[in-house]
Amino acid sequence: MAVDTPARIAVLGAGPIGLEAAIYARFLGYDVTIIERGEVAENVQRWGHVCLFSPFSMNHSSLGAAAIVAQGSQNALPKDEELLTGHQWRERYLLPLSETDLLSDHLCTNTRVLSLGRPHVLKADLPGGKGRDLQPFQILLQTSNGVQSVMAAEIVIDTTGVYGNPNWVGRGGMPAVGETLCRDRIQFGLPDLSTVARKDFAGKHTLVVGAGYSAATNVVALSELSESFPETRVTWITRKVEGQTNAPLPLIENDQLSERHRLAHAANALCVSSASCVTHLFPASVLAVDYVSESAGFRVALDCHVKAEIECDQILANVGNRPDTSLFQELQVHQCYATEGPMKVAASLLAQDTQDCLNQPAIGAHSLLNPEPNFYVLGAKSYGRNSNFLFSLGLDQIRELFSVIGDRTDLDLYAGAKPLLS
Ligand SMILES: Cc1cc2nc3c(=O)[nH]c(=O)nc-3n(C[C@H](O)[C@H](O)[C@H](O)COP(=O)(O)OP(=O)(O)OC[C@H]3O[C@@H](n4cnc5c(N)ncnc54)[C@H](O)[C@@H]3O)c2cc1C
Repeated sequence: MAVDTPARIAVLGAGPIGLEAAIYARFLGYDVTIIERGEVAENVQRWGHVCLFSPFSMNHSSLGAAAIVAQGSQNALPKDEELLTGHQWRERYLLPLSETDLLSDHLCTNTRVLSLGRPHVLKADLPGGKGRDLQPFQILLQTSNGVQSVMAAEIVIDTTGVYGNPNWVGRGGMPAVGETLCRDRIQFGLPDLSTVARKDFAGKHTLVVGAGYSAATNVVALSELSESFPETRVTWITRKVEGQTNAPLPLIENDQLSERHRLAHAANALCVSSASCVTHLFPASVLAVDYVSESAGFRVALDCHVKAEIECDQILANVGNRPDTSLFQELQVHQCYATEGPMKVAASLLAQDTQDCLNQPAIGAHSLLNPEPNFYVLGAKSYGRNSNFLFSLGLDQIRELFSVIGDRTDLDLYAGAKPLLS
């Protein structure tokens, strides 16, 4: 059902997709508030030292660029073919976008969304959504200095991402024995090994867990560290994947993303080189973790052909992330039993027969609808545990969503914004 302006839209999360959704809504005249737990593009900042695979042409919208140009800040804008680090993306596009007149007064940073609901209907009331939209959403917020408040909105777009909400390290996705007792000692994500995190890893033995591009990024960075600190060692474990060899990363034929190809090639080469600091064990998984002490590090029991125990100074886990679904647990959202993303998005992704995230078609406007009226999950969070999300797919989602909200199938502000850039 169409929701006309000037309805209030709450965008949860000022990541790349939250900002893009907000500017689209502002161009259409909606009353928008963006709520961000940290600073603008907080998650991008956390992995900011890493180079994006996709060029800038795929990492901005024509509408966002037009808003920045209208502000007179076009000098910041990168060229289409530039491959940026996360920090550069944030500084040269995402921050200027957030500082435009259209968005700057609508941002509420250092404010975490704790929960969402409707004032007088419970989750179990009015199943299927009919009539629930007669009341606006109420959103419970907490600022970084602990002050709580409630805001109201007719439409909520959840773009809070998944980064920073990692899966468990243990075999089968469960916590390994002892993991819950020492989880805060395990490092997740992508520490910057060339600067702040160097001291934690230089000359140390690190266990890297995971078979994706983040693990590959860490393994390659650790190997580079070993050139200056030759004692640096890596044990890299990857779980059993169909057809896997001693090369954990798939090499995509004629890969259009040269940075992705370079990374996969470099990580795989480290696994087979006898001169490298990397020992690749596969199929292997973590059975138990015991944090001994700062000087002795961890004792880790592995299931690797036979049971084995290793000692290491650090554990760097790149085992994927999951969405924080607790935010909307009082709403009627049908979640996928495999990905924990919204069911219709997940079903549409499952129907796609592609291994390469570059080849994913837009999922279609109908896939963004939930049983809860006027509640939408976009961006990386809409993919749940599926890590194939790309920024450009998020722009498709935004275009499709506003054609539903405005009930205008032909609505496409991105097409209209192009001439403004020339
Ligand atoms: C290392 C790495 C490299 C990548 N490279 C590429 C690439 O080359 N090309 C590409 O297209 N994609 C790439 N991605 C995927 C990339 O993350 C996304 O394209 C993009 O960042 C997704 O944006 P998002 O807004 O959906 O989520 P996020 O960037 O995760 O933003 C979510 C925002 O919500 C905020 N938030 C979370 N919880 C709350 C809460 N409770 N209350 C308020 N705010 C909250 C977060 O602080 C964050 O600012 C990469 C990802 C990683 C990790």
